[in-house]
Amino acid sequence: MANYKIQHDREGCIGCGACAAVCPDNWDLKPDGKSAPKKVDISEDEFECNNNAATGCPVNVIHIIDVKTKKKII
Ligand code: SF4
Repeated sequence: MANYKIQHDREGCIGCGACAAVCPDNWDLKPDGKSAPKKVDISEDEFECNNNAATGCPVNVIHIIDVKTKKKII
């Protein structure tokens, strides 16, 4: 079951590749030069990797929502 939802403001992505470098399990750089998550509904086990991607994003376009509380964690 998904505990968290990823929001990616793709328009603001500058394609630096940091998310794909720290969390290759869920982040890829696409042919247009911007990244995208492989999936947006993630479990507790997948949180740390995606949180590292979010904290490492230099333009803060990756956000993670706690599905239960609907609170934006980052
Ligand atoms: S770290 Fe942020 S700016 Fe860099 S590719 Fe990933 S989403 Fe885009």
